[in-house]
Amino acid sequence: MAIKITEDCINCGACEPECPNEAIKEGGEIYVINPNACTECVGFYDQEACQAVCPVECCVPDPDRTESEDVLIKRALSLHPDDTELKRKAEADDYPSHFRKK
Ligand code: SF4
Ligand code: SF4
Repeated sequence: MAIKITEDCINCGACEPECPNEAIKEGGEIYVINPNACTECVGFYDQEACQAVCPVECCVPDPDRTESEDVLIKRALSLHPDDTELKRKAEADDYPSHFRKK
């Protein structure tokens, strides 16, 4: 499921440069995540990078957008068509994903 930013956001901006998909932007009142560009960091990290750096832990799963790992790795591939390393990892079924975190 895509991650969303709650109203607890203090607009520190720490999350924006951490997103591998450039899904986070400054919004009107708080930072916002484009759910169509969020892969929950699947393909890149074994945890959600925005939540990992957020000082108030307000980057949380959006229960209205539950998505499978398969959907998310396919989204990552479509967002990064020229990333041969990501493609290789996906084909080998060996890529970072919080679904696989031990
Ligand atoms: Fe970006 Fe990952 Fe946060 Fe989604 S979970 S907005 S992909 S940093
Ligand atoms: Fe808001 Fe957290 Fe991002 Fe800072 S790191 S801008 S508090 S969501």
